[in-house]
Amino acid sequence: MENVVIIGSGCAGLTAALYTARANLSPLALTGIMPGGLLTTTSIVENFPGFPEGVDGYELMTRLQKQAERFGARVQFATVEGVNLAARPFTLTVDGEPVQAQSIIIASGAGHRHLGLESEHVLEKKGVTYCATCDGALPVFRNQPLVVVGGGDSACEEALYLTRFGSAVHLVHRRDQLRASKIMAERTLSNPKIRPVWDSVVTEILDTRQDKVTGVRVKNLKTNVETTLEAAGVFVAIGHVPNTDLFKGVIDRDEQGYILPKRGTQTSVAGVFVAGDCADRIYRQAITAAGMGCAAAIDAERYLASLTT
Ligand code: NAP
Repeated sequence: MENVVIIGSGCAGLTAALYTARANLSPLALTGIMPGGLLTTTSIVENFPGFPEGVDGYELMTRLQKQAERFGARVQFATVEGVNLAARPFTLTVDGEPVQAQSIIIASGAGHRHLGLESEHVLEKKGVTYCATCDGALPVFRNQPLVVVGGGDSACEEALYLTRFGSAVHLVHRRDQLRASKIMAERTLSNPKIRPVWDSVVTEILDTRQDKVTGVRVKNLKTNVETTLEAAGVFVAIGHVPNTDLFKGVIDRDEQGYILPKRGTQTSVAGVFVAGDCADRIYRQAITAAGMGCAAAIDAERYLASLTT
């Protein structure tokens, strides 16, 4: 029987692991398919407090895992396939095996939002990608024109990173203004290799017949004129969707699937807590996820203490 099982190993999950480990609860953190979470796919994190020169996202998460393990957290590469929260102790199905837990912290994060185009689906991993840091350096993208879709911090970060490899980066955004933070927007728009394509959406990724990306069809929403941009790669960075399908009908979520905390980090099921991007539609920063992971750990610790008094 586990005291606390943490679902997820991003900033929220590993911070919860660190705090519950230091409370002598010997937490079990289950990584899911992406140990370290989305931050491991980013390059330099410049806004995590305490790192004036910035810190590599993968390194930050590796260090956080080691820190949690030093105090007794167990981090296991495993995926939760089902949950039964109807009775206590709770039962999770983890890689086919049942695991029982007195309390659970959900820190399952968020995944990349897709454009929803058939051609996007067909050409995924054949030039369509959701992670410049993972794929940007591939030979197929070198000295070629590339497309980034989106207008937030992620899109800016992807576009800036890709200027190292591509001959030019077209930044296709559906409005005429970036949503990104001021510093990222200014850095992006002042880069001579980045060419904004305003008020535009990608309607098709070319060319499914050749089974590789050769460009995109882009529609200007103000003029309705469609044009073609040549590109060897399309990097989609249009936000995220919370990874909460597992909890559909089991835990209260909003209409977009974000888990709704009730009091602090407590969910609609007593003994189940939530932290990070799977519950945060507003801030979605590494540091806010870490802060929420800390709060969930403290809430879980108090809950467990209340069971024994
Ligand atoms: P985001 O801020 O939600 O931005 C998503 C962008 O994609 C928006 O510009 C949005 O357009 C566009 N978009 C959404 N759906 C679309 C669709 N179906 N078709 C075309 N465009 C679409 O997401 P994010 O950039 O991933 O950032 C998420 C959070 O992480 C933010 O809080 C951000 O500050 C943070 N973050 C920070 C950093 C950093 O500080 N370096 C880096 C990455 C992420 P509209 O603008 O029209 O809505």
